Amino acid sequence: MIITPDLAEPAQRGLCTDCGLSRMKNAKDCGRACQFIAPDYPAMEEQVHGRARREGDERFFGPFHAMHRARLTPATEGAQWTGITTALGAQLLTDGAVEAVLTMVPDAHDRWRPVPALITDPEGMAAARGMRMGYAPLLALLEEAQARGFSRLAVIGIPCQIYALRRLEKQLGLEALYVIGTPCSDNTTTENFHSFLALLDEDPDSITYLEFRADYRVELRYADGRVRFIPFLSLPISDLPQDFFPLTCRTCVDYTNALADITVGYMGGEGDQWLLVRNARGAEILAALGDRIVLSAPGSAGKRAGAVKGFIANTARAAGGLPLRRMPDWLRPVVSWLQPRTGPRGLEFARARLEMKAAETILHLRRQMPARVKNMVPGHVWDIAAPYDLTPEPGERRDDSAP
Ligand SMILES: Cc1cc2nc3c(=O)[nH]c(=O)nc-3n(C[C@H](O)[C@H](O)[C@H](O)COP(=O)(O)OP(=O)(O)OC[C@H]3O[C@@H](n4cnc5c(N)ncnc54)[C@H](O)[C@@H]3O)c2cc1C
Ligand code: SF4
Ligand code: SF4
Repeated sequence: MIITPDLAEPAQRGLCTDCGLSRMKNAKDCGRACQFIAPDYPAMEEQVHGRARREGDERFFGPFHAMHRARLTPATEGAQWTGITTALGAQLLTDGAVEAVLTMVPDAHDRWRPVPALITDPEGMAAARGMRMGYAPLLALLEEAQARGFSRLAVIGIPCQIYALRRLEKQLGLEALYVIGTPCSDNTTTENFHSFLALLDEDPDSITYLEFRADYRVELRYADGRVRFIPFLSLPISDLPQDFFPLTCRTCVDYTNALADITVGYMGGEGDQWLLVRNARGAEILAALGDRIVLSAPGSAGKRAGAVKGFIANTARAAGGLPLRRMPDWLRPVVSWLQPRTGPRGLEFARARLEMKAAETILHLRRQMPARVKNMVPGHVWDIAAPYDLTPEPGERRDDSAP
């Protein structure tokens, strides 16, 4: 069964991705639960994983027990990558570990629009496969889950949803909660995403799949089976309006979903998927897939500093309202050829993306909402950005996370 109830309207909030909390009876909890107000990652990592992140790669990716390249065999039809995320949810249902999985399915009339759903049978998870662009009020269905008496629940969500979920977790009174997270970056409204697709193809409705791959290309799949790859440098990014990406997603502070039990992404996977097993529950979730999943050690190659510096220079221009610096047309094919061969790859690519994101957060917030910098930017974001001379100015870093 796939349950998609009608929901209350959201309350009007400033920075908000409509995670669903403002539509619930306890909407006033937004103040303490929202990632965009005053997130406290050290305390929440302690609550969820028993400790805050340590030095080394945890500085970038958050606490983890184990990190893997991974692929499901065989890959599932219609999945974004190989389908590990939805397979984990289905397995929890099969094993009876949970009564329902809370996740997103596509809207009946728009495959790119996410709609929150409670799924109660393993076969139903097929409907959730694939990535959709946009926000939808996932957490609002916690009330529906409670009304139906579900006390063992899995939630699949993006970081801003999972932060609020973890803040509410104790008051939900669940017998068991399994949290499967995906990384998330550069999200935007489904409406904006449709206008992006229209810049990529004269028949945007025929595009059924889009992914920003770790080999510096966007992959498009079409309804008739065609596949097309576009190098990042050839994307019409500089044709997008300045507000194409909402400020929430330009200033998001938890790319890798640090409060999930297990994070399933692709950034560090060099063409495979990338898993961060964050705690014992995450290990339990992964073990349930048995030999359906192939694991190997993630690799790392190249040097990220040059790429990150170039990105920061361009972001500083954009944050200051200046147009993005465009590479001359003649140079693009050369750099597009070189990037996947000489640019940062594997874990180095993932670290580069985390540093870029940290810089973006600081530069855009400073410019557009300077009063928010102090409470919204956690210590780990300052630490990641520090090698690029992005350090807190007086009053910009909260006392509890001071260096
Ligand atoms: C907007 C967005 C940006 C992302 N950016 C990155 C990135 O930069 N780097 C990276 O490593 N990974 C990113 N991901 C995650 C990545 O796209 C894959 O979802 C992930 O690797 C899992 O692949 P899979 O084959 O295991 O997923 P599947 O088995 O196909 O399952 C996908 C799951 O994601 C859920 N989902 C789909 N769209 C949304 C949405 N809009 N909001 C909430 N949940 C959704 C589905 O309901 C489903 O449960 C992003 C995901 C989203 C939604
Ligand atoms: S907690 Fe959720 S609903 Fe509330 S303001 Fe934040 S993103 Fe919006
Ligand atoms: S980029 Fe961040 S704020 Fe935007 S939808 Fe993704 S997790 Fe939420």
